[in-house]
Amino acid sequence: MKYILFLFIVLLSYNASAQTDSKIYDVIDAVSEERLRQDVKTLADFGTRHTLSDTLSETRGIGAARRWIKSQFDNISKDCNNCLEVFFQKDLVEKGRNQRIVKDVMVVNVVAIQRGTKYPNRFIIMSGDIDSRVSDPTDYTSDSPGANDNATGMAGAIEAARVLSKYKFESSIIYLGLSGEEQGLFGGQGMAKYAQDNNWDIIGVLNNDMIGNISGVDGVVDNLTFRIFSEPTTTGEKDAEQLKRQARARRFYGGEVDGISRQLARYVHNTTKTYMPEMNPMMIYRLDRFGRGGHHRPFNDVGFAGIRIMEAHENYTQQHQDIRTENGINYGDTFEHVNFPYCKKLTAVNAITMASLASAPPAPSEVGIGGIVEASAKLQWSKVDGAKGYKIYWRDTTSPTWDNSRYVENITEFTLNGIVIDNSLFGVAAVGENGHESMVVFPNKIIR
Ligand SMILES: [Zn+2]
Repeated sequence: MKYILFLFIVLLSYNASAQTDSKIYDVIDAVSEERLRQDVKTLADFGTRHTLSDTLSETRGIGAARRWIKSQFDNISKDCNNCLEVFFQKDLVEKGRNQRIVKDVMVVNVVAIQRGTKYPNRFIIMSGDIDSRVSDPTDYTSDSPGANDNATGMAGAIEAARVLSKYKFESSIIYLGLSGEEQGLFGGQGMAKYAQDNNWDIIGVLNNDMIGNISGVDGVVDNLTFRIFSEPTTTGEKDAEQLKRQARARRFYGGEVDGISRQLARYVHNTTKTYMPEMNPMMIYRLDRFGRGGHHRPFNDVGFAGIRIMEAHENYTQQHQDIRTENGINYGDTFEHVNFPYCKKLTAVNAITMASLASAPPAPSEVGIGGIVEASAKLQWSKVDGAKGYKIYWRDTTSPTWDNSRYVENITEFTLNGIVIDNSLFGVAAVGENGHESMVVFPNKIIR
């Protein structure tokens, strides 16, 4: 009996070590609540970070803010033997592009690249926003601390850089500060175009926008739940014929809820559940909040995977508001409303997702599926250099998460005996020597 119990414990611990990486727990612990607090304070203290605000002052306006952000990345880089490539990416947006651009403005993003050792041109990106706004989106002089929206996301990206720059990863990681969000997602558009022009292979964009509020306008206080917004399919495809073909394929084979951004959302969900099981990630099957948008969208528009990570309970009296007191309510996005233990947790969610993806081999580019009128489902995929094995995933057609899996090594096709193709959805991920997995790829062709 004793022996059996011992064996059981050995098996259990073996299983645990096969599925998790202790480095990831170190990453969670290394995220500093105190540094996030200091950085959000510094960003809020620039008075306003409105996209059209002053750029010459050293203490107020978006110019001072972006130079400070760049200096933080530069300092982090000094501490890791110049492991970050830090630069401004900018585009001129001319007056009248929309009603919120009331004068010509240089929309300037801050980019910090931690180059991958094996796949320098593959990128996982964490973004936050530099800019802020008050009630009137064209008011670029009033105090606009934007502490939660979105100094939290920006501080999170800086803090993730501090933590992850202590490690080396196979793929590149980008820590990104975007501007022009409140004026019409201009920074994201500029950056997505820059990525295309430079042929970047983007694994995905984790756009963080408001990751510090736990006390909702609905009265709920919750420091464990957060939302992952993802659109159902991402194609970047504008051609009508191709869209028609895709719609037809989805009608007969499925895939309406299995685009690349949705797979990225599932990856964040799974990584969180594995390493931070106390958290409650909500996958929201929508691009963003109802009728609204964020800085992941310009990346989705050109065909990159991108999601929004965000608090679960918003407080609208503290967003996009002039600072004032009205009927006993304190309006405004000010520092004291931000919850830093929560901001730390969501920063850690980003950091462990990026550490996992940047440690994993690329996903298989081709995945085929067959098994019509058979008792088994067949999967076939393209070989991935650097993969030790592959994980075949499947789930009920109504399930949001990849609930079942089968690991295989050294092969590029496999038959799941007794699994009827009609009743599940399937996908394949590549698994590295270190156990880290790529995102799941939904089948993109039919095999006979
Ligand atoms: Zn906003």
